[in-house]
Amino acid sequence: KLSVRFESFANRVLEMNLLVRPDDYIGVKLAGEIAALYNYRVEDVAFNEEAVLNKKAGEDKSAYPVRNPIITIMGHVDHGKTSLLDYIRKEKVAAGEAGGITQHIGAYSVKVKDAMLTFLDTPGHAAFAAMRQRGANVTDIVVLVVAADDGVMPQTVESIRFIKNAEVPVIVAVNKIDKPAANPDKVKQGLTEHGLLPEEWGGETQYVNVSALTGQGIDDLLEAIQLQAEIMELRENPKGAAEGIVIESKIEVGRGPVTTILVQKGTLNKGDSIVVGETSGRARSLMDYTGKMLNSAGPSTPVQVLGLENVPTPGDILNVVKNEREAQKIVDNRIAERKALANTSVEAKKVSLEDFFATAQNNSEAEKKVLKLIIRSDVQGSYEAIKTSVERLGNSEVSVEVISGGVGAITDNDVNLAANSQGFILGFNMRPVTTARRIAEEKGVDIKTYSIIYELINDVTLALEGMLTPER
Ligand code: GDP
Repeated sequence: KLSVRFESFANRVLEMNLLVRPDDYIGVKLAGEIAALYNYRVEDVAFNEEAVLNKKAGEDKSAYPVRNPIITIMGHVDHGKTSLLDYIRKEKVAAGEAGGITQHIGAYSVKVKDAMLTFLDTPGHAAFAAMRQRGANVTDIVVLVVAADDGVMPQTVESIRFIKNAEVPVIVAVNKIDKPAANPDKVKQGLTEHGLLPEEWGGETQYVNVSALTGQGIDDLLEAIQLQAEIMELRENPKGAAEGIVIESKIEVGRGPVTTILVQKGTLNKGDSIVVGETSGRARSLMDYTGKMLNSAGPSTPVQVLGLENVPTPGDILNVVKNEREAQKIVDNRIAERKALANTSVEAKKVSLEDFFATAQNNSEAEKKVLKLIIRSDVQGSYEAIKTSVERLGNSEVSVEVISGGVGAITDNDVNLAANSQGFILGFNMRPVTTARRIAEEKGVDIKTYSIIYELINDVTLALEGMLTPER
């Protein structure tokens, strides 16, 4: 509590070009700036996701050890995702490992040549969708399963969309090749229409004919995955505090919350104090997919963790913190933040860039309309170029104003500013940090990201002319 009157506060903040109302939610950075006006300091006890994201984008990983690729299987229902995962687990893991798999933890690893491949054992879209929403990419390679007797189906198309969005390499497993009605060429044709041109037809996509029933072609599939992984040269830093992501989570009688974490970087040690989404605890025990107890788990290792207070959600991020008290503080903060957001977003109505023209037209005020933009870019040069170009697009009826932006990821503050000023956010080679994405969803702020300047400029032009087709 600063103990200052709201009007005086609002006025000083207004000098910073910000309009705040009594119940508005403000991000940490902004809070820091405001507090500084009153000689206060704001302590950020949450994780600096912005810094993490910016660091991730530019980090040179070539000196780190190789890590296992993470593979997920997608495809239409009944095309054989579960059968394929079951076959590989039973026939390929058990063969190489004493004891085989005794525990179903949501992930397992297979040895192929000198490499280990880690499969996420949870087919289906829900978990991935949750992870994607949080801006986290868990998977390095996707195996797209298509039944040879059925061909491309709605969820096949949906999976392709996911794969393209996530920009992950795909290997097509043409399954049920044992069936008399199998027609792998028809599958290839169907997928070619969706941009997956087979290598043998001059394209870049690997296709492998398999049968999850007889095991035919499975070794070829595993080798294709291993080769792809080798090309990708995935490396990660095993040193330092672990970061990970929740793959699966449930309550087990007598054991409490049981959570499978995929460690993504650093090393998770038994006994670490951890924060996972909105819950925390101590990693009391770590168990791998063979049922073996581990003392520590490095990058790309899936482990079942006991010791969390509550059940987190798939896609939640794990971080290691100093002690349990700090963990609790962070969790309390996150919950309070979420509640504050929920309270302020009741009347949030999504207005997209596509709707801008319509809104501007319906607005009966005679004054000139302003399209307010917040632009984030990866380098200063392109930011300047975009800013100058879009501001030039204004015409006699509408002007374009870049109200904020610069180099870096799209932050909470950007979203709040957009919400308060009915502006739109455009990212060029920059995405929103996880929390910003969440706030944008709750406040109905439209964020568009681009990797081609022309497309960005074109969208702004079309929005001004009312010609941008809404994507629904
Ligand atoms: P999911 O919904 O994609 O996980 O598909 P499932 O793995 O549950 O398989 C759906 C059905 O197809 C089951 O009855 C499987 O036994 C059958 N199936 C899966 N793979 C094959 C295969 O390679 N050949 C044959 N003949 N049947 C298969």
